Amino acid sequence: MTTEIYLDSNATSVVLPAALAAATDAMGQRYGNPSSTHATGLQAKAILDQARACAMRLLGVGQGRLMFNSGATEGIQTAVLSALVALRERRDAGQPIGTLLVYGATEHKAVPESLAHWNRLLGLNLTLHKLPVDHEGAHSLQALRAIAPQAAMVCTMAANNETGVISDLAGIAAALAGSQALWMVDCVQALGKLKLDLAATRIDYAPFSGHKLYAPKGIGMLYVRAGAPFTPLIMGGGQEGGQRSGTENMAGIAALGAVLAALERGDTFRSTAELCGFRARLADSLRAALPGVVFNNPFDKALPTTLNFAVPGLSSRELMDVFDAADVRVSAGSACSSSKAAPSYVLDAMGLPLWRSAGAIRMSFGPLVDAAVIAAACARIERCGAALRAACLIPSERCSAPHDGLLQLGVEGACSWMVLDADSRSCIVIDPLPDHVARIESYVRCQNYQVQAVVSTLPNAGRAMLVEALGRHFNRHAEADDYGWPRQGVRIALANGARVPALQLGAQVLACLPCGTGQELRAYLLGVPHDGALPAAAVRFAFSARPAQQGLAPVSAGHTLLCPTRDEHNQFCTIAEPVATQAAEAQLDSAALAAFLHAHPDALLIDVREPHEFAATVAPAWAGRSVHSVPLSRLAEHASAWLHAEPTPLVFFCRSGNRSLKAAHCLRRLGHPQAYSLNGGVALAAPLPLAA
Ligand code: PLP
Repeated sequence: MTTEIYLDSNATSVVLPAALAAATDAMGQRYGNPSSTHATGLQAKAILDQARACAMRLLGVGQGRLMFNSGATEGIQTAVLSALVALRERRDAGQPIGTLLVYGATEHKAVPESLAHWNRLLGLNLTLHKLPVDHEGAHSLQALRAIAPQAAMVCTMAANNETGVISDLAGIAAALAGSQALWMVDCVQALGKLKLDLAATRIDYAPFSGHKLYAPKGIGMLYVRAGAPFTPLIMGGGQEGGQRSGTENMAGIAALGAVLAALERGDTFRSTAELCGFRARLADSLRAALPGVVFNNPFDKALPTTLNFAVPGLSSRELMDVFDAADVRVSAGSACSSSKAAPSYVLDAMGLPLWRSAGAIRMSFGPLVDAAVIAAACARIERCGAALRAACLIPSERCSAPHDGLLQLGVEGACSWMVLDADSRSCIVIDPLPDHVARIESYVRCQNYQVQAVVSTLPNAGRAMLVEALGRHFNRHAEADDYGWPRQGVRIALANGARVPALQLGAQVLACLPCGTGQELRAYLLGVPHDGALPAAAVRFAFSARPAQQGLAPVSAGHTLLCPTRDEHNQFCTIAEPVATQAAEAQLDSAALAAFLHAHPDALLIDVREPHEFAATVAPAWAGRSVHSVPLSRLAEHASAWLHAEPTPLVFFCRSGNRSLKAAHCLRRLGHPQAYSLNGGVALAAPLPLAA
């Protein structure tokens, strides 16, 4: 049973059942080559002719050309090549041509990349010029009017893929009045959503792509206005009237033909009014579930099928992850790495602040969607909101159950640590990074913790921002030294006989140890004291900058976990004598999991996704099996417990196998003999037989 709700239709769509049937027919029954003159060939040609005729009617092609190709990227190449070859010929013939290749600032990358490529290859050396857009994503017509006389080619899109913003094509045409410029309009996102009557416009080239509207990938179309310059991109057997050689992708053409026929009949897809209603319902759910959500696209100027939003305090990675765990497929509005999202160039071009651009999520659906899917999506959005609230990632009226133990923030590069004590509702923050101030503050407020101290391993490190932000949640009475360490406090004896200052946190103490060559660094030791002392064996964790770690040997034990303040290599924590590990042996294929668990009934299945992902999960990958939730941010604490207990096989998993591999490597390095990562994660997981 699939629980997936697919809301990423601007990336690609499922194939329409009628299109699938048409493709199957074109491969199974009518499999001929349309260039063959025998009956089998003629049957295939009939499919081709029908699909083309339908497309020509639907798009208002008139006397223009309409050729099938592999998709919009090819269509864009062909259009750019055609225009630039003609420009070069005109220039070589001594005719005046414009000097600018103009493209909208929010175009798909295929456009500026193709312009740059063919401009260079053809030796034209024209100037690429980015046309600005306003804060709602509309092209600046004023700027276009100003450069229109110098424009050799202009490329604008009909609707944007990230925001759905619809271009004012009539306004652009008016701005180009009198200009010689050739005009390409990327119609990929417009197909089936906007009425197009191409021959009635001055558009010279319009590329389309099948897979954005329920046809398979690898099939597209290019419209070329009657009389517009044309140069084939691919030469060969003369198919498509010599305009695009290569035996036709008949399965794709048949499928696209079926989609176009459905569009023409008007009996398959929802009306714009219905789609607007669906968008409004999704937007209402998002507002209710995610306080402070802002929409990055103006609904009244965008396709009704695209929402683009950001939530204060949440990265697009976190939002993507929680939606994915809830089996709702959306996309980050921007390319993102595992920790920090790169801002979206589309939203940047609209001048949106960085947090909205780097935190953007795109939710898009197709015109086939129905009310049941939207209702289910709204319920999942609510579920995601609840999961984020429980994890204290968004503000919540009700305080969630207090968290306890050790928390590592920022798993790449540098890290801050929090030592939490649920019983006393108090905590200590070690080495807070400026990037984590807002996160720590909202977490502490949500958990209603009192922060006893904010300490650092270096003197005068930037703690002030956090202390300021914490307000009443910070214990301001204690006077502190340059490391944030409160001057009053208890002292505790360490294994080397030194008596050092310590802070009590529930049953544990955090001891402060000057170290480093000039004693300018500090390390902090955490453990449960015995009779006023913290013997080496009782030290569970040591927090320090790496150069100080050598100085810890006399006061810590072999099993003490060293928690670094920088963690460029995602090690989470180390021990004094790391154990070598081999990547391959730490991986387990999903197909081998059932047998592994059968052979190791005591093995623990550990989900290392963050708590909000765990909470949002709708259909656990392994129903009936007990699964432990140990997010990477909690790995150090659990690692310490696993290393102390009888060794039990540990099978880590996450969404794709990335995070779980880091966890498995960490445990192997710490000396655990049987830590594994599930290759491919839950995304590729094969269902397990129910445990006996
Ligand atoms: N143009 C736009 C606006 C798109 O959204 C896409 C697809 O992401 C393309 C062009 C490229 O299309 P294709 O995948 O058919 O090459």
